[in-house]
Amino acid sequence: MSQTSRFRRALVTGGGGFLGSYVCEQLLSSGVEVIGVDNFSTGHRSYVEHLMGRSGFTLVEADVIEEFDTPGSVDLVMHLASPASIPEFYRLPLETLLVGSQGTHNALRIAHRCGARFVLASTSEVYGDPLKHPQDEEYWGNVNPIGARSVYDEAKRYAEAFTTAYGNKHGVSVGIARIFNSYGPRMRPDGRVISGFIAQALDGVPLTIHGDGNQTRSPCYVEDTARGLLAIAESDYGRPVNIGNVHEVTIRDLAQLILEVTGSRSPLKFIEADADDPRQRCPDISRAERELGWRPQVALEEGLRRTVAAASKPSADWK
Ligand code: UDP
Repeated sequence: MSQTSRFRRALVTGGGGFLGSYVCEQLLSSGVEVIGVDNFSTGHRSYVEHLMGRSGFTLVEADVIEEFDTPGSVDLVMHLASPASIPEFYRLPLETLLVGSQGTHNALRIAHRCGARFVLASTSEVYGDPLKHPQDEEYWGNVNPIGARSVYDEAKRYAEAFTTAYGNKHGVSVGIARIFNSYGPRMRPDGRVISGFIAQALDGVPLTIHGDGNQTRSPCYVEDTARGLLAIAESDYGRPVNIGNVHEVTIRDLAQLILEVTGSRSPLKFIEADADDPRQRCPDISRAERELGWRPQVALEEGLRRTVAAASKPSADWK
């Protein structure tokens, strides 16, 4: 993204995370000064190493669950801070809920004080195990409130409700991105499927398929996802927008594709399914196309090739 932004200075919570690092990078490239905030509970310095020392980038280590503030004023707040994978939800269940509740309140408070535009990184998980397919933004979802992944699903549902109510009450301009599975270079094997399969394929060990592998996902290349988030920021659009790729694959086909791209001869190994695992997921992105003129540009095969190339470098520091 090289277009000039209408913003001057942005706060990115979760700026040391996988997706956050791409959002910071694209903002910097469009001329915006960036303050990234992260407590590195799930973020990692390797995500932002290449941005350190770049003019206009500041990284602050802080926990957005605690009340925090930014030095000076910002005109954009991108609230991305949250654990984002199942093992992390198990390890950090209360933190996951609290960053969606208190963390969102704290980030909104800063946007209010500064008169800034606010964008919440929400998720396709608000649709739960969807009974409607593909999922459009008017669908309310099918979520187990006390299930294995509920700490994330409900945190993001609450965050959407809080963001909407706060925007209405205090006149803050808010946007909500419902992000579908993102992947790309630098993503660490944190329990999520693509980075996990790539690590297994490159190590020549079995690719572990949870369940029968017939469940589907629609992976979106991370640069497309980040561009979608910034398109929401640049607009004044206030309702939730799906940001994802409509190319839907089964997990079994995804494993095969990763074997082809890596040239690996690893076998597939079928293990127990995850509890409450959504059976199918694919975004309807007509709202994003209509309201933002956004659509993904990087096809799955190409995105996987780029991701594998980055992971294959001897310097790849993600294990
Ligand atoms: N999955 C898998 N093997 C893995 C990791 C995940 O088969 O090593 C499956 C998982 O059960 C789910 C899908 O891949 O059906 C996507 O999982 P991920 O955790 O990446 O995303 P999410 O379930 O949050 O969409």
